[in-house]
Amino acid sequence: MKFKNFPMVPRVIFGRGSFDQLEEILAPKRDSEKAPFIFLLDDVFKGSPLEQRIPLYGKDSILYINSLAEPKTSQVDAIRDRIRHDFETLPSGIIGIGGGTVMDLAKAVALMLTNEGSSADYQGWDLVKHRAVFHVGIPTISGTGAEVSRTTVLTGPEKKLGINSDFTTFDQVVLDPDLTAGVPLDQWFYTGMDCYIHCVESLTGTYLNAFSQSYGEKAQELCNEVFLGNSLPDEDLRGKLMMASWHGGMSIAYSQVGVAHAMSYGLSYLLGTRHGIGNCIVFNQLEEFYPEGVKHFRKMVDKHGVEIPRGICEGLGDDDLDTIINVSLGMVPLWENALGKDWQHVITPQKLRGMYEKM
Ligand code: NAD
Ligand code: ZN
Repeated sequence: MKFKNFPMVPRVIFGRGSFDQLEEILAPKRDSEKAPFIFLLDDVFKGSPLEQRIPLYGKDSILYINSLAEPKTSQVDAIRDRIRHDFETLPSGIIGIGGGTVMDLAKAVALMLTNEGSSADYQGWDLVKHRAVFHVGIPTISGTGAEVSRTTVLTGPEKKLGINSDFTTFDQVVLDPDLTAGVPLDQWFYTGMDCYIHCVESLTGTYLNAFSQSYGEKAQELCNEVFLGNSLPDEDLRGKLMMASWHGGMSIAYSQVGVAHAMSYGLSYLLGTRHGIGNCIVFNQLEEFYPEGVKHFRKMVDKHGVEIPRGICEGLGDDDLDTIINVSLGMVPLWENALGKDWQHVITPQKLRGMYEKM
């Protein structure tokens, strides 16, 4: 297919307190008394007032997810097996309440309830055969764009790669900026910078087109307001960052990310470095590729007094460095977007090694 014909989230609700409309949203989607809604909830909310607001009926249940580690294919398969074991019928829906980690798990579990085998079999592009069960994304931290994307990024036995498919995209998203109120400063910054980096990589990439540019520019403008602007009320900042994340995700849907993502995937695969902080560690060293973006990024770091770790590749042996380099070089579309078709003349394994050694 020459032009991508990709799905968008068909329904979205936005506004402070919109979470309380969840009951109304879910009621018509309930298949039967026996078919529960399963809520995947970031365990940071265990026992919180938010948990009390989840509308539970009949056999509906909450599964707590610890997001200290990013989603794995084995974890997705285990949750799917548990749901199949515990309930007589397919659930009416899977609802993910949390950051990119929980939203990606919700997407993957919804897919794997209707597709046989292991989720590792579907890492790649358009390998999923059957429609997922109804699934809803409710972000509680802003930046990844996972709420709009047609992928769920999983670490499998052989690779860290998304399940990219038309069936992955959420059927419904609830954007309630109040849910992000309790995010700790460092994490707010790292995940928010994921969005900023999506914009820089999309807007400077060779895949850029008017579609991506229109979303990328808006997302970047919102990031600048949030991270560099004059102080606005917190509730306004939360709404703006939530919409920046949405637009940033839309921007990369029709283009690609670039050098920072290609390199941070390598770190994540070997060292388990999480997505937001990993992107920040890498991006901080990329002035050669993104001079303007890195200049602004450093201003944001200074303004918010956030620490970007250094020296994480110190002491790594040749084998480990080779693994990181190979994972990174495998991200061909990202390099091609960043540097054009001849990217391999610019980025050699030796060059990458030198860059990682500085991180
Ligand atoms: P996350 O979901 O891992 O959450 C980060 C931390 O913030 C966790 O400790 C979590 O408990 C905490 N947290 C979340 N909401 C909170 C709240 N309201 N109050 C207090 N603490 C809160 O972080 P993330 O950066 O949103 O997501 C990273 C994941 O997203 C990675 O697995 C990455 O691969 C994935 N990702 C997916 C896509 C996609 O398109 N599918 C895009 C980018 C990243
Ligand atoms: Zn990202």
